[in-house]
Amino acid sequence: MNKSDNKNEKKCKLCNKPYTYNYELFGRKCLKNLYKNFKIAIPKVLNKENYFCTRIAWRCHKFFLNKDKKYALVQNYIALDYLKKINNENFISLAQIIQSNIDEITAFNKKYRILFGDFTLNDFYRAYNSYKDYEEFNIKLDKSNINEDIKKNDYYEMQEDYKKYKEAIKKIKENQKNINVKIYDLYDESFLDACEVIFDTTKMKSPIFHLAFYNLQREFWKIVVAGGILFDMKLSAYLLIKSIDLPEEKENEEQIIDDEYVNKILFSNKEFTNKINSYLNGEDVNIEDSNVTFNDKDLFFSLHNVTLKIKGNKNKLGIWSLEIELKDKYDFTDIIWFNGYANKDFTENIPKALVSSTLNNFASISSAYDVLKNYKFTIKIKVNSYRM
Ligand SMILES: [Zn+2]
Repeated sequence: MNKSDNKNEKKCKLCNKPYTYNYELFGRKCLKNLYKNFKIAIPKVLNKENYFCTRIAWRCHKFFLNKDKKYALVQNYIALDYLKKINNENFISLAQIIQSNIDEITAFNKKYRILFGDFTLNDFYRAYNSYKDYEEFNIKLDKSNINEDIKKNDYYEMQEDYKKYKEAIKKIKENQKNINVKIYDLYDESFLDACEVIFDTTKMKSPIFHLAFYNLQREFWKIVVAGGILFDMKLSAYLLIKSIDLPEEKENEEQIIDDEYVNKILFSNKEFTNKINSYLNGEDVNIEDSNVTFNDKDLFFSLHNVTLKIKGNKNKLGIWSLEIELKDKYDFTDIIWFNGYANKDFTENIPKALVSSTLNNFASISSAYDVLKNYKFTIKIKVNSYRM
């Protein structure tokens, strides 16, 4: 199916799968499971979703809620239910926040929240399902002949690694404030080794580690990479952070970047302005050029296969008004990003280790964790007084 056909596609808040039925939160299959899990008999009403939400509201002793509040309540309620089932001490504070969300939803209160922070209902759904798998795994492990000491050692080792990671990050954070420290000096093999702990795929199945690593990987990419290695590569950092912050449901949508900050980055780049200038002949310009590539470090890192459109005209004083568009795809599964970078001779500033397979692996693991998302984007730039 063509991706652009799915523009108005709805995704189930629980399983995140697309559905077309006329419900607002859940696909039909998930709704049926919810009825079953909360032991509510399926009624013969037309809107079974709304009925379900009303019943949950009653269960919370909440009446006369408008629809938005009711639907928000239900999402908090389901998330809390998952946390209660997982029943792990690491989730106590999480559960408290969600409980207070539920308490705050009343017919009179204007403010209400659906979950909090970056969490979606799908995160809780996945955490719970991973937990079930993990439990099964533990039961199997208990029945197996692996002795208790080995199991404990594993956990201990993990804690030690985590301590190393925390110290490594602390060092980076402290030094980022100090401009005099050459930021690249802080990154070496031992640093990457210390960070490896949060990219442990074997822990992905555990809900505790999954949530923890998800957040720590975000921290890694934001602070360590975008703020550190890429600190003089502003467009690369900008696009990377966008990839981290992109909500899952927007992954298939093209992102329009219309940002003065990006314009500034591009127009202070010599190679970029030279490229633009090369198209500005005569009195007006209207071109579209595909497969445009760049060699400059930042542009090479961030733009891979650009379709460039320029439209504009020149006034009598030789000043151009321009509308520029750069279309590209930011794709981590592709990872031209690091591989391409390693092949280029840019490494004078950056230790080789950083562009080696280690960071590649981290990127693909973070894609699996859904921390890094691919997206199509168009950068739109309007300039009214451009001189060549
Ligand atoms: Zn679903």
